[in-house]
Amino acid sequence: MITQLNQRIFVAGHTGLVGSAIVRALRRQGYNNLLTVPHSHLDLTDQAQVRQLFQREQIDAVYLAAATVGGIHANNSYPAEFIYSNMAIETNVIHEAWRHGTQRLLFLGSSCIYPRLAPQPIPETALMHGALEPTNEPYAIAKIAGIKLCESYNRQYGTRYRSVMPTNLYGPCDSYHNENGHVIPALMRRLHESKLAGANEVAVWGTGEARREFLYVDDLADACLFVMNLSEDRYRGATLPMVSHINVGSGMEVSIARLAQLLAQTVGYGGELVFDASKPDGTPRKLLDVGILNALGWRAEVALERGLRETYHSFLRAEQAGTRQQLARALDQQSRRRREMYLPPVALEHAYADMRSPY
Ligand code: GDP
Repeated sequence: MITQLNQRIFVAGHTGLVGSAIVRALRRQGYNNLLTVPHSHLDLTDQAQVRQLFQREQIDAVYLAAATVGGIHANNSYPAEFIYSNMAIETNVIHEAWRHGTQRLLFLGSSCIYPRLAPQPIPETALMHGALEPTNEPYAIAKIAGIKLCESYNRQYGTRYRSVMPTNLYGPCDSYHNENGHVIPALMRRLHESKLAGANEVAVWGTGEARREFLYVDDLADACLFVMNLSEDRYRGATLPMVSHINVGSGMEVSIARLAQLLAQTVGYGGELVFDASKPDGTPRKLLDVGILNALGWRAEVALERGLRETYHSFLRAEQAGTRQQLARALDQQSRRRREMYLPPVALEHAYADMRSPY
């Protein structure tokens, strides 16, 4: 193992989909000196704050999972935010890591770095061989800059900064925002709410013909630890100094139409799925070539159906916790006003405990 269990490991973005999965994986493997800082105490787009953090802490390794992310609508609507904040986070963290002697860093990119019409499955060498998908070009440019920052510091300063490019991700702790989320969490919420409301039909954006590869986030976290801990010889043997990123995918792609059916089954929604072709499809296909990672000895384990079930249980728990918080606030207000309680706390606790995943 390259990183030691007692080393100071900073997980940037630890509350997000990817960062929280990396923290779970590190804890599972026995890492006992993790550094995580809440967003309220550390703005990674602020260079002075990032510098202070690296000055204050003796950081041995960084998992750079912090990013401004979103689905096709958010990327298209807030391009300035996506390019600015991602470039600022990467520049600050990578540069300050180098300035303070942190030798190891893993940068998390995205499969949208590749050209819109890249050959499928997409090899790492397809990077910068064609025009990007316009709906997420600013985000992609920021992520390409992150890879190039790592490579440049490695080439000039001899650091060991590595990059992984995950395919479309899903899992617990995602953003379930209807408009701004990615397809799985956004559609899951819509289907769930439509089921509760007894709605006859649910809108699915685009034609349904676009195809995507999906990877469960705990699989990605496992791959991140795997790549971080590869010996330098093995990493260099599998990459090139200026094509140093490694794809992480499941190797399985589905059409959005099929995904919507699977989601409806998972949620238990029996109504009709109506495709809204006025919404963009985005890239027609995005299947990563995971030959390099497979040859190094890593493979994804969680099948889509199982991952969707896990994600739905986590969604229900989050919903329940939110309802519980709302009810707790309401109870608080009510008791302050000396009114009769609406629901005793014991009953709330019980309702929450029932929502735990059976898997
Ligand atoms: P992308 O891979 O960057 O396009 O990420 P998304 O997860 O946002 O979208 C993937 C595909 O799902 C696109 O073809 C969308 O048009 C389609 N899609 C269908 N319904 C939805 C939805 O409710 N939200 C999102 N974000 N995408 C949807």
